[in-house]
Amino acid sequence: LFRLLPVVGNINNIRSGLSNKSASVLVVSEYLDRSNKPFMKNGAIPFEKLTKGIEFKSVDFRYGSGNQELALRNIDLWIPRGKTVALVGSSGAGKSTLADLIPRFYDPCGGQIKFDDEDLRSYDMKTVRRRMGIVSQDTFLFNNSVLYNLTYGCEWAGEAEAVDAAKRANAYEFIMNLPQGFDTEIGDRGVMLSGGQRQRLAIARAIIRDPEILILDEATSALDTLSERLVQEAIEELCHDRTTIVIAHRLSTIRNADQIVVMERGAIMEVGSHTSLLEQEGYYSTLYQAQFAQDNEDAIQQARQETLIN
Ligand code: ADP
Ligand code: MG
Repeated sequence: LFRLLPVVGNINNIRSGLSNKSASVLVVSEYLDRSNKPFMKNGAIPFEKLTKGIEFKSVDFRYGSGNQELALRNIDLWIPRGKTVALVGSSGAGKSTLADLIPRFYDPCGGQIKFDDEDLRSYDMKTVRRRMGIVSQDTFLFNNSVLYNLTYGCEWAGEAEAVDAAKRANAYEFIMNLPQGFDTEIGDRGVMLSGGQRQRLAIARAIIRDPEILILDEATSALDTLSERLVQEAIEELCHDRTTIVIAHRLSTIRNADQIVVMERGAIMEVGSHTSLLEQEGYYSTLYQAQFAQDNEDAIQQARQETLIN
């Protein structure tokens, strides 16, 4: 029995496990085949692709079973196939939780999530996750070559695919500057990469996987301006014509999203395009002005420092 306890701990902590082990574009299907919640009922329909989109209908969710507060309340959301939907809102608003319901890391406790006309629970979970790519904050790298890291989980992919994906992810140049190019050993026991480089590898990995549904969770946080721009360009390439849910702190990175969803305390406050939300002069507009002012302040500080250094 005691040997089972850690396993139970794992099962109850899928999400924190994911972030602690800092997996990025994790091969979701493989990770979850091991850590599946035993009580999550699987469906029979094999998932291939979306034809219309993903729908949240009055979705409620709470962590744990007790009388904990709802982490998501009455979420109604339509994510059209091939479009990019951005989730914004302060920390703890429920953005990651909402995204985690899509690969069924958790099931809603009320309401329903539908892929096209079918309840998400009617699909074979493995096939859903196989078609999903997740790029999260931290990037998990194997202690192996760049090539291995890029093609892991895609047996059909070789060097040609890796090179092509690396180019599209703005990663090719830095990879070619590594001692052995694509054969360079990376990870804790190899060459250490910067945050921006790791993220571009993660994006290249996702490009190779060619997922039907893409989830980007704060993928450009904590990067310097140049890295952020390179990562941003790579992300735009990746999102193109793909159903994408993007979560970002930097409002500048999501202003081109087809739809922006503003969340606060588990609920949706506003939905619209960047321009329409600014016109509403509501929560998003306030958030944007505040960040714009902060960005200006940061730019001024940076200019000052550069002047001092030079
Ligand atoms: P965001 O991504 O917008 O910062 P989260 O979705 O991570 O917000 O969190 C929403 C709420 O759910 C927060 O109150 C947070 O503390 C809580 N929460 C997040 N993950 C867990 C978890 N694994 N167990 C219990 N509560 C959690
Ligand atoms: Mg989050």
